[in-house]
Amino acid sequence: MSIHCPYCGVRPIEEFSMRGDATTMRPGTSDPANMDMKLEAEWHDYVYLRDNPKGKFEEYWHHVGGCRVWLVVTRNTITHEIYSVVIASEHSISKQLSHAVDLKMTKDAPTKEGPSS
Ligand SMILES: [Zn+2]
Repeated sequence: MSIHCPYCGVRPIEEFSMRGDATTMRPGTSDPANMDMKLEAEWHDYVYLRDNPKGKFEEYWHHVGGCRVWLVVTRNTITHEIYSVVIASEHSISKQLSHAVDLKMTKDAPTKEGPSS
């Protein structure tokens, strides 16, 4: 198995270290003054709970034996086929933007079904 690093090119898997699930989102705040039961539960899930899915999955990989960049690798956990490799900082920005849009839509919408007409 090999990974195509955006900076180094195709490199053997031994140069990389898998660093876990890239699909989790950090809860909104860690400020103890604003902590409630719901937020504590979100932090518990974020820190301790992980899925172990079959099939397509996004993972953090660190190119420790090369340029040391953090990557988000989308791969099939059964076949190990790699679908995409992106630089983690670029992936995080797009994910945070879409999360912010989701939060805004949830906040603005009167119901889960969306605004009434
Ligand atoms: Zn690299």
